[in-house]
Amino acid sequence: MADKKPFEIARETLKKLTERKLVPTPANYLSIYNEVAGIPHVPHFPADILRDIAQSLPVKTPGQERQKGLLDYSIDRLSWDGVKSALVAYGGFAPLNAPEGTSAANVVGSSVVTDTGKVSAPALTTEFLDQIGRLIEYAQPALGNDDPRFNEQTQTLIKTLRQPATDIVAAKLMLVNYSHRLSFAAEDQAEVRVTLLKLLHLVFENIGELSIDDQWLKGQMDALMQASTPPLTLRRLDDVERRLRDVIFKQKDAKQKTIQAQNEMRSMLALFVERLSQMTQSTGNFQKKLEESAKLIEQAKSIDEIAPLLKDVVGTTRAMAQESQASREQLQVLRDKATETDAQLTKLHQELDRVSSQARHDPLTGALNRQGLDEALNREVSNVRRKDVPLSVALLDIDNFKKLNDSMGHATGDIALTHLAKVARECMRPQDTLARYGGEEFVILLPDTPLDKGIEAMTRLQRELTKKFFLAGTEKVLITFSAGVAQLIPNEEPSDAIKRADQAMYLAKRAGKNRVLGA
Ligand code: GH3
Ligand code: MG
Ligand code: MG
Repeated sequence: MADKKPFEIARETLKKLTERKLVPTPANYLSIYNEVAGIPHVPHFPADILRDIAQSLPVKTPGQERQKGLLDYSIDRLSWDGVKSALVAYGGFAPLNAPEGTSAANVVGSSVVTDTGKVSAPALTTEFLDQIGRLIEYAQPALGNDDPRFNEQTQTLIKTLRQPATDIVAAKLMLVNYSHRLSFAAEDQAEVRVTLLKLLHLVFENIGELSIDDQWLKGQMDALMQASTPPLTLRRLDDVERRLRDVIFKQKDAKQKTIQAQNEMRSMLALFVERLSQMTQSTGNFQKKLEESAKLIEQAKSIDEIAPLLKDVVGTTRAMAQESQASREQLQVLRDKATETDAQLTKLHQELDRVSSQARHDPLTGALNRQGLDEALNREVSNVRRKDVPLSVALLDIDNFKKLNDSMGHATGDIALTHLAKVARECMRPQDTLARYGGEEFVILLPDTPLDKGIEAMTRLQRELTKKFFLAGTEKVLITFSAGVAQLIPNEEPSDAIKRADQAMYLAKRAGKNRVLGA
């Protein structure tokens, strides 16, 4: 075909147009001509129509004006790319400083037209600026709002970035100033965080020292110190908060109890002292009267003189006896009251213990108790539903624990439980949650973890436990456990997932213990 002469091509083109019964328009002619001549078909560039469209575009903002210039330029160059860019950006592009080597004349709006007439993608759009604004807005809470001037600067910048036809040079300058301030603000916030954490530790240490007698409180304080050690996550902070609430609650109750007991004792002591002094006084009076009577009796010369004196002595003695009786009765009342106060204190103590047991942490191991677990589960499940991420729950049960208790004593059993909780915490990620589910059973919540990874995590804990024995006196004690892991199924009740993990744990026991099975 390449060696065909132009007039031959023209003749054949006309022939084909007739054969195919095509309307002889220039476009149809060109298309068949190219086909006959073997020229690749290039779509027609409707420059006139496009110019017409460009003409009718309203120009309301400087940005639009620039885009219209770009459109005209691209139509002249027959550049489809340029037309596309200009039309897409027509809504309002902000201008950009010309890159080096590009003259001001060939920078159109935010798009750069190269010498070859090719138009590059728009570099800085209003959408892009808006995105920066959004970024700053999202980052703002992390910077705190203690500095009103910085806050104002942030708001002004966001507003500027969101204006459709913002002045890019001014916006850039604002961004530079803002970055400068931002770097200080971010440093400040980091410092505040570290200092607050140090303070928090100091407070925990102090409370721990003050409450040396209260083992429950001391244990909680140690756990608080651990929980507030970086890296901090929201889950760990949540844990710290709950532990603190428990401690505060317990302290408040203990304080009230002590004040009440002190007041009762003070008023009772005062009454005792008063009664005692009354008794001493009346005994003294009685003594004096008796001595006087004895003297008079000695001096008496006749029985007639003695008779009234004796009457006096009998009267005084009776009065004394009555007074003693009254005092005895009053003291009896006081004693009853003391007994009653004592009973009240015992009741208060029991109530306190009941409240303590209702707190969210197990006092022995520091792990969450059932109530704490329920709360943590609710939180994790709502997280799963919100973010559509997997959640695995593991249930582990120490192997042959009864035997350990029987052979080494209950106290060593307790140490084993504490040891397991400690190793588990060390081995778990900060976002994982450990809860004591029953006697020697623990539940571990593993957020963002599919089943296979959950099994891996429990196997890792198993390995860790075999490495980390503990000492009972001089004897090394090694504990193992059997575990079941279940991944929460959509719409499944969390308690059902725990049940499945429990069944898998049971199968692990049946299969010979010291192993982890998936549900
Ligand atoms: P298996 O391997 O099948 O799990 O056997 P096991 O002996 O571990 O299980 P079993 O359920 O028969 O015994 C659990 C024991 O745990 C019985 C109970 O006395 C003991 N236990 C429960 N709570 C505590 C506790 O707080 N401290 C101590 N020392 N022992 C506890
Ligand atoms: Mg058990
Ligand atoms: Mg067991």
